[in-house]
Amino acid sequence: MSAKIPYSKELSDFLYSFKIPEEELSAEFSGWANTNPEKSFDDFVWNYFKEKAISFTKSANSESELYANMRTIYLHMACYKTYVNDNLKEGIEFLKGHYKYDLLQNQASSLKMKVSVIGDKDCLKCANSKLQRTLEYEVNNQRLPFADCPLSKDGHSLYKAPYGYSVKRDENGLPVNTIKKIPERNYNPNTKYGRRKLREHARQEYAGLSSKEKLERNVIAFIIMAIICLIVWFLLGTEGFLKWSQH
Ligand SMILES: [Zn+2]
Repeated sequence: MSAKIPYSKELSDFLYSFKIPEEELSAEFSGWANTNPEKSFDDFVWNYFKEKAISFTKSANSESELYANMRTIYLHMACYKTYVNDNLKEGIEFLKGHYKYDLLQNQASSLKMKVSVIGDKDCLKCANSKLQRTLEYEVNNQRLPFADCPLSKDGHSLYKAPYGYSVKRDENGLPVNTIKKIPERNYNPNTKYGRRKLREHARQEYAGLSSKEKLERNVIAFIIMAIICLIVWFLLGTEGFLKWSQH
């Protein structure tokens, strides 16, 4: 028996982004509804979002893929909370996460960049303002652009704050690099072959690094692990995080 799903634009957009067929969601819901008869459809969707987000942390093949997946799913979660659940306050928390992972993904490209944000054209105060900051500043600042805009009071204009990135170039017009780029690997860690290849590559590469590079590499691996822990903690709360970390 397949359960009836109340599709909203927000839910359909999410499924479309991650190429999840409607039948898959419907089957998941049937199973879930049987074991959680007292819970609502929204409880199910929320749980589904979280499970997907956590599975993305496991399947990402690179730092930038991890950020890109988080950036996308957090935006869908923000829209669902705000527009389907009518819970702007929690929606904004996910919107902040979306912005943060978007910045981090650009930072992972190792190119020096600037972030430009344009004020809401419907706003008397900021229609003509344009903020331009370095990517590092925005990553450390951790605030949504134009959070003080009078039109942001209801939060909805935060969703449409247009921003963009520009790459800093040197005198020859070439992009300026921040750190030596670590090549991305495209093996699938979910297969035995992929995992073996990843280990081989990691060993070969690691052996060829200088001790300073080895240290950098370890720091990056540590940062990624710390970020995954933060994601899980943010999504599941302390109790859920402890359970997750034990298996
Ligand atoms: Zn404004």
